[in-house]
Amino acid sequence: MDQTLPAPRFMDVFARHVAADPNRVACVFQPQGPDSALSLSYGELNRQVQERARLLVERGYGGQPLALLFPAGIDFVVNFLACLAAGAIAVPLNLSRNAQQLERTVRILEDAKTKAILTTARTREQLSGQLAESPQIELGEQAWIDEQQTGSTEAVGLPQPAPEQLAFVQYTSGSTGLPKGVMVSHANIVDNQLAIQQACGHRKGLIAGGWLPQFHDMGLIGHLLQPLFLGGTYVSMPPMNFVQRPRRWLELISRYRIQSSAAPNFGYEHCVKFIGTREDLSGLDLSCWTVALNGSEPVSADTMRAFAERFRPLGFSADAFFPCYGMAETTLFVSGGPARSGIETLAFEPAAFDRGRLQTAEEGRWVVNCGRITPRLAVSIVAPESGRLTGADRIGEIWISGASVARGYLNNPRISAQQFGARLSPCDGRRYLRTGDMGFVRDGMLFVTGRIKEMLILRGRNLYPYDIERTCSGHPDVAGNNGASVFTVESGGENRLAAIVEIRRNAFLNRDHAELRQELREAVMSAHDVALDRLLLVKPGDIPKTTSGKVRRTACRALIAAEETQPA
Ligand code: ATP
Ligand code: MG
Repeated sequence: MDQTLPAPRFMDVFARHVAADPNRVACVFQPQGPDSALSLSYGELNRQVQERARLLVERGYGGQPLALLFPAGIDFVVNFLACLAAGAIAVPLNLSRNAQQLERTVRILEDAKTKAILTTARTREQLSGQLAESPQIELGEQAWIDEQQTGSTEAVGLPQPAPEQLAFVQYTSGSTGLPKGVMVSHANIVDNQLAIQQACGHRKGLIAGGWLPQFHDMGLIGHLLQPLFLGGTYVSMPPMNFVQRPRRWLELISRYRIQSSAAPNFGYEHCVKFIGTREDLSGLDLSCWTVALNGSEPVSADTMRAFAERFRPLGFSADAFFPCYGMAETTLFVSGGPARSGIETLAFEPAAFDRGRLQTAEEGRWVVNCGRITPRLAVSIVAPESGRLTGADRIGEIWISGASVARGYLNNPRISAQQFGARLSPCDGRRYLRTGDMGFVRDGMLFVTGRIKEMLILRGRNLYPYDIERTCSGHPDVAGNNGASVFTVESGGENRLAAIVEIRRNAFLNRDHAELRQELREAVMSAHDVALDRLLLVKPGDIPKTTSGKVRRTACRALIAAEETQPA
């Protein structure tokens, strides 16, 4: 066992908090308005977790993969912790809203070979209804365990899983393909909890949370587990409530005095765009929010500046911004902070930058500092083709090694070996995770430029889609929130730039599309010196996205291809 860990398992740390202060509030969930809030103390949460864990052990599910299908809420917390306590392998899944999502969820169930589905009686009923309507989707043999099933009263001993044993399987978002099941061990969880705590400066009794889905790494590891690791309180609300009315996130923070809350960039953007300037926010006090994490997709300094300006009157401080970088394959956290240092951006000379070389400049390609690399991990910047370290003045692939790096992809030894077993040339004795992301390190700080798979290679230049997407989003008729997806398509042996852009409903119906296209093309040409070759205008919501709101560029490519083959 790693001697620097305070305990081999998350549940050992949790048990200490239960013993120390059983009456302290462990979690609060607010399904609707403040009057609807539900909460559990450490003592009560522990009682429910133990009962559920004993049931799982009694039924022989120790060491088995079990699907967790819950609406946002406290049931998820109880069942996830029960899996940890029972030594079962939790597989958190997204509750589907439509047939397409249902198909994805079922594909993951098959991939993970889960033995049972932990859920609520109500969800089970809904799901059966959805399955009946989609006869092409088959669920296969699964046992169902809902809240109505309880274990025998006889004492059943709970195991002490070894630290290297699997604790849960985190499916990736599926931005670049099908979601992959990352195998996270008990030791990985503890190591990454420490990394987050140290980087964010979180203290004992931390109040953390927000609207992030519980089944994804940032919501699960960052919002849910971190406060419970520190004897604090996890506060949450359904993601949909935020999407429909973003001020509810700020209300939650203000009401429960949340200190640490995270979102991908689009969450902050959503607030800036959809909280009306005339809305009365006078009762809100955001001065408690000292760690505002922004990660899981490219961080935009413009968004953060706009957010800070807008909500400064409510006590929000720009210093609270905490750009960070991470992924399921490293349990979650890789870099961020130090706390209270706000946003930093560096500019580089564009022509050199587009060829992977870094020359600082006054103006040019701006890159956001994604924070200090946790001392618990080693990061190397590597030329992806040769496996050699790049010089300090070059962009390369981010490779990571250390105790937070997960054990591989479930049931996929070939890709696991490729991604998780990389060696430097010459070898430095470590095994590295290849992240597939490009970036560079300056003074121990990580700068992320983008994904290799999404890089636009045009006539020897390496462009990143995000900058061009931001230019498109600057057009007044483009819809808010990741309203543009930019990628390349091959045509006549050459890469060409393509985009799908969401146009606000009103403009989509009333404006001349040829004129709109022309305006967008000119904007891209003047800002980036490239021609936008293919351009598809769609209505808001039509760009394919993952369940975590990220653009799925591969699906976009298929969409544009399908559009072009359709008879006019
Ligand atoms: P898939 O692996 O299935 O394609 P995914 O990579 O989006 O999906 P996650 O593990 O949820 O799945 O996301 C991690 C990825 O998100 C990182 O590898 C990186 O590409 C991106 N990311 C995370 N933080 C940042 C950041 N601060 N800036 C830019 N990109 C980021
Ligand atoms: Mg990934």
